[in-house]
Amino acid sequence: MHIHLKLLFLIIYFITPSFSIDAQQSRTNFELSQKMNRAIELIEKEDYHTANTVFRNILATEKVLPTNLSYYFSLTLYHIEQYRNSHNFLEKYLNLTGKAGDFYDQSIQLQKLLENAFTDIKNCDLCDINGYQFMTCSVCKGNKNTIEDCSKCRSAGIISCQKCKAEGVVITIDSFGEHNYQTCDRCLGKGIHTCDLCEGEKQLNLVCNVCLGTGNQSSKVICTHH
Ligand SMILES: [Zn+2]
Ligand SMILES: [Zn+2]
Ligand SMILES: [Zn+2]
Ligand SMILES: [Zn+2]
Repeated sequence: MHIHLKLLFLIIYFITPSFSIDAQQSRTNFELSQKMNRAIELIEKEDYHTANTVFRNILATEKVLPTNLSYYFSLTLYHIEQYRNSHNFLEKYLNLTGKAGDFYDQSIQLQKLLENAFTDIKNCDLCDINGYQFMTCSVCKGNKNTIEDCSKCRSAGIISCQKCKAEGVVITIDSFGEHNYQTCDRCLGKGIHTCDLCEGEKQLNLVCNVCLGTGNQSSKVICTHH
């Protein structure tokens, strides 16, 4: 009787922890499949924006993701016109499943739709490579350049002469040890000369480093290509 009790204790002791892990795991699996089902329902209702929110929540909270999620998320992203992201998730799905995937045919169809979308974007001058409308650069206001104070002369337009150390004369010593004094040819004896960086303009005309000289910036507005 005593031995039986001990045995029972041992059985409970060793079974309990693994049982609780299983319970925890199946609870997360249950939550995940509930979220997945909700997202799929939303796709069926063509509410892609809400489906996107559900998928982003899954991606942020789950460590292990079902393979089919990549396809469903790609489809959702296509419909909310996030083509670049859609393409990435579709590639991921096809890489993972190959021709054996549940949605292989649908994936190939989606790939064609994405190709068409990318062609439209490429042929349009009004949007960037991701299909977002251009807007006038907020920094240079479309001028492509920005005017800045000259850093070399601190906007004075002139700098002191380096050749004569602002003395106006250049001293050389000949082979007899004689000092020869010559008027500095760089500053013509003035000790200062026009700044060679801004050429006396006091300001520099620089290529806008926000738009890289295009005058445009990407907006968050999806382009209609018209
Ligand atoms: Zn000089
Ligand atoms: Zn200058
Ligand atoms: Zn700019
Ligand atoms: Zn466009």
